[in-house]
Amino acid sequence: MQTIIEPFRIKSVEPIYFNTREQREDILKKAFYNPFLIKSTDVLIDLLTDSGTSAMSSQQWAGIMQGDESYAGSPSFFRFEHVVQQITGMPLVIPTHQGRAAEKILFSIIGGKGKFIVSNTLFDTTRANIEYSGAVGVDLLCAEGKLPSVPAPFKGNMDTVALERFIADKGAANIPLVIITVTNNSGGGQPVSMQNVREVKRICAAHNIPLFIDACRFAENAWFIKIREEGYATKTVEEIARELFSYADGCTMSAKKDAFANIGGFLAMHNADLALQCRNLLVITEGFPTYGGLAGRDLEAIAIGLMEVMDEHYLQYRIRSIEYLTNKLIAAGVPVMLPAGGHAVYIDSKAFLSHIPVHQYPGQALVSALYVTGGIRSVEIGSLMFGKYDDNGALIPAQMELVRLAIPRRVYTQSHIDYVAEVIIEVYNNRLKISGLKITEEAAMLRHFTAKLAPVTE
Ligand SMILES: *Cc1c(COP(=O)(O)O)cnc(C)c1O
Repeated sequence: MQTIIEPFRIKSVEPIYFNTREQREDILKKAFYNPFLIKSTDVLIDLLTDSGTSAMSSQQWAGIMQGDESYAGSPSFFRFEHVVQQITGMPLVIPTHQGRAAEKILFSIIGGKGKFIVSNTLFDTTRANIEYSGAVGVDLLCAEGKLPSVPAPFKGNMDTVALERFIADKGAANIPLVIITVTNNSGGGQPVSMQNVREVKRICAAHNIPLFIDACRFAENAWFIKIREEGYATKTVEEIARELFSYADGCTMSAKKDAFANIGGFLAMHNADLALQCRNLLVITEGFPTYGGLAGRDLEAIAIGLMEVMDEHYLQYRIRSIEYLTNKLIAAGVPVMLPAGGHAVYIDSKAFLSHIPVHQYPGQALVSALYVTGGIRSVEIGSLMFGKYDDNGALIPAQMELVRLAIPRRVYTQSHIDYVAEVIIEVYNNRLKISGLKITEEAAMLRHFTAKLAPVTE
């Protein structure tokens, strides 16, 4: 098979700043073993997130110059609105400054005490916004999704049997919304099948529960459907995306993911009453409904990015580059989540650092080792991010202890990825020298962003 090449040329570059292992040891210590507290100029390859880190295209930069900054009724808004309507089929489009702002508005209105919001897996900001409203977030992921080492085509699927049971148990009146995350970011970037979305919709419709899609990676998910699900091979990504959205009553989106934008997001829906309430809140928290916390130029960049992301040469390269890194790690025996996800490689740190107990945060220990060894910044998706405490203050661990290496869109080349593989393999071969961490300071919500840690040996 021919090499799948990057489907772009590079017109503008930015430098990578190099440093030494000794310098990185010092930097990490001063950042309290939390990569969110490291300066980006102290990072060689930044795989902290694929959010807002895309390289924009020359078309998008040209769109930036076309941005109309009128407070009300900007043509940039109407271009943005038109593209979102075309892809989602949803008539009511509400721009927000990023995905979590859309979540905050939605869950302020439909959440609240006594309510349950059900998902395949809620992303951390989604869960936080649900919990902040007083509601309870519930993850009903399919069984295969919980087994990192077992490959399956659609490990992001919701467990529909559990969904029926949950609705019977809690009562549909207490479940204002079901939301499916595509692809399932916190569960390994694994896709959700069309069949599963259809089935979830059928169950929701039978109980009059609206179905929303957390659409951050709708194009990556559509690509997986095209190549893995029967009956979709000859459909275009746009057709698949439109079908996916056709089952939903609304969606939330972070344009920092599959819209190649550096900032932005939106809410879209069919229900006019709900949209009215959302816009009323939007005006207080984000801005007037035709800009919603964004500049006109951002709306242009998002509108163009949403169309570009559905290019099949791009998606083939995108998904292949994640698979390429995953395969290199598998060949070296590194325990990774299988199969490769859509936007990131997930290392199973419980298996990688089996000598470190979960209450010593093996994921964060691995994140630290990757930074010190090769200047690679990654993020823990495990008990630091999702852990809770029981009444005795003992850690209730997360379902999995993953380390995510998120690949920014159109940013790094194959040799960068080869370097990343070399560093991970070096760390793997020296894994027994790595020790665990303890938390010395933490916030009540989203603690992983600001937590301070220290080695347990100190
Ligand atoms: C990034 C993300 C969000 C939140 O979007 P922001 O733009 O970062 O606020 C919500 N859900 C998923 C699945 C995400 O990946």
